[in-house]
Amino acid sequence: MSKLLEEFQDYLSKMNQYEHVTTLLYWDMKTGAPKLGQAGHVEALTHFSTEAFALSTSEKLGEMLAGLAKPEEFDALTDTWKFIVTRMKRDFDRDKRIPADVYAAFVQTQAEAGNVWVEAKEKSDFSLFAPYLQKMIDLTVEITGYTDPGMEVYDALLDQYEEGMDSATIDGLFEDLKKELIPFVKEILLRQKPENQAFKGCFDTNGQKSVQDMLLDYIGFRKDAGSVGESEHPFTLNFSSKDVRLTNHYYEHDPISAIFSAIHEGGHAIFEQNVNPEYDNTVAGSCRYMGLHESQSRFYENILGRNYNFWLPVYDTLGELLPPFQAISLDDFYREINHVKNSFIRVNADEVTYCFHIILRYEMEKAIFRDHVPVNDLPALWNRKMQEYLLITPANDAEGILQDMHWSDGGFGYFPSYLLGSIYDGMLLDTLQEELGDVDELLKSGKIGEITAWLNRKIHRYGSTRKPKDAIMAVCGKEISAEPLIRYFKKKYTKLYQI
Ligand code: ZN
Repeated sequence: MSKLLEEFQDYLSKMNQYEHVTTLLYWDMKTGAPKLGQAGHVEALTHFSTEAFALSTSEKLGEMLAGLAKPEEFDALTDTWKFIVTRMKRDFDRDKRIPADVYAAFVQTQAEAGNVWVEAKEKSDFSLFAPYLQKMIDLTVEITGYTDPGMEVYDALLDQYEEGMDSATIDGLFEDLKKELIPFVKEILLRQKPENQAFKGCFDTNGQKSVQDMLLDYIGFRKDAGSVGESEHPFTLNFSSKDVRLTNHYYEHDPISAIFSAIHEGGHAIFEQNVNPEYDNTVAGSCRYMGLHESQSRFYENILGRNYNFWLPVYDTLGELLPPFQAISLDDFYREINHVKNSFIRVNADEVTYCFHIILRYEMEKAIFRDHVPVNDLPALWNRKMQEYLLITPANDAEGILQDMHWSDGGFGYFPSYLLGSIYDGMLLDTLQEELGDVDELLKSGKIGEITAWLNRKIHRYGSTRKPKDAIMAVCGKEISAEPLIRYFKKKYTKLYQI
């Protein structure tokens, strides 16, 4: 190993110590720290984040990356280290172009906009949030001009979350979904069943936690390399493949929520636990492509978890751990977890109408960045699109445009990742069945471990080393298409709703 590479690795390990501490502080703030202790944590987090930022933008790092990129050093690197150096050099050069005062203004506006968004949502008053949204949009456009000069702004934003994806590709995929799903959902809704009151009862939250543990274990989440906490909104984070944390939130009168959040976050966590450990603590590890990440959480949650056969081997155990389920048949449970209905809130939507929630947000973002629609006109545009796709109009902005925190955080371009994840899932399901056999049969006979092992082998172990398009091509041998997802929806819901 060259002296320069050795020096570089030492530097990376120092950067990791900061990352480790900031991750731990964040975890504790969200899961354990009391209200009065939050301020102290914020102070510590700011200190360590600033130090970490200084390390990741230092002249020294720039010199090392430039040195390692020279042919005499680069050619001697292993493929993994070639990837790490190339990726870090690209990110370093890109971040370096952002003027420090612009970056500081962005971080500050992010914090302010986040707080104002919470208040605006509580009061359901978009006018409070509008000036901050405008600032976030302006800063995002300015920063993109530095990071991706010459690139169309919205395409650059999409690329940040799902590298290699652009709006021309996404337009094609989403148009196919719209064309097929708008009339199909109308057919489903004509056969709408009334709400099942059995799920409105009282479900002990300790029992829900036992169910969660049973399910995580069942799908392949490893407890020696992960743990579970409780937070307001479920999320997953990781230190390395050996320490992956997820959270859940339990509602006494809604057991379905925690069950499916556990399976969803479990999917994210299983991905992280199975990345090649050689990539730990480098940019090759922990998957940074949001669509590919969502494809794994949503594969477990929807493709597997909302399949009737998934529950056959474990439904009796569910009843033992959470006794009210003993009075609910598996048929009724299956119908409830696949109840298609037009609703206002994205995170509560079923897997079919969820597509419309994302298409709507994608079109809103294009209206912002491409058509420059004034911020004050956005709530009305949102409501028109809700009516167009979901045939309902929000009574107020809290259940409309103010429901998600993404834009307050500057996360423009993130939303399409969720639906891209489902589109990849349709393709992965096809290939999985070609290679392992019928998924219903595998699930019925409790062979979910074979499915997890297949995903480990095909997707998880690569971490961030393959871009999503390349990963799907390598596994499925095809360009990305929405057709398999549409076919999956039609087969499943035609049977369920007897269309
Ligand atoms: Zn997720």
